Amino acid sequence: MQGYIIDIKAVKDDDLIVSILAENHIYTTYRFYGARHSNINIGYKIDFELESTLKSSVPRLKDVMQLGFQWIFDNEKLYCWQRFIKLFYPHLKDIEEIDDFYFKLLDKLSHKMIKQNPKRAICKSYLKLLKHEGRLHTDFNCFLCECDITDDISLVRSFMPVHPVCTYSRTFKFEKIEELLLDKSLISFEDEEVDYLWNIVLQGL
Ligand SMILES: [Zn+2]
Repeated sequence: MQGYIIDIKAVKDDDLIVSILAENHIYTTYRFYGARHSNINIGYKIDFELESTLKSSVPRLKDVMQLGFQWIFDNEKLYCWQRFIKLFYPHLKDIEEIDDFYFKLLDKLSHKMIKQNPKRAICKSYLKLLKHEGRLHTDFNCFLCECDITDDISLVRSFMPVHPVCTYSRTFKFEKIEELLLDKSLISFEDEEVDYLWNIVLQGL
């Protein structure tokens, strides 16, 4: 089986509880310290086996093999990737069965990051996630005052559009946010503006 490590918690004797996002399932697994042969880290894509035990309802994680990314030694890319993938754990918490959208999204993103700027690639993937979950707000109604937005526009968590005066946050030109939310394009955004969007993503999926 293959999956992405979205959470690691240390438990007694340096054992680990490892949460893995696989194609149709989120697995919570137990990793014995003594069984650690290969590196386990947040964001890694791994090939693995699970072994059920009578003692515990949490299966043992075994035969782990890391499936590397081309950019794994690029510190900035790895850092951004890990920050993003960590957000999936609280977002999908208490869900076991998932549709393959999430696994495929991460697969595609990891390929796009070979050539693309990581923050831009991640923001675009996040827009796809919002769309998939029916949370992409393209009606340009202010989330706070519920009136239409026709001119300057700001974004808050989950890229929800608001009036700059309603939220005291950064102002963007309407056309730019229209392009972002409707075309899912960041082409007219400066790097420093992409940083701003990136920080919104980090507030949580
Ligand atoms: Zn408003």
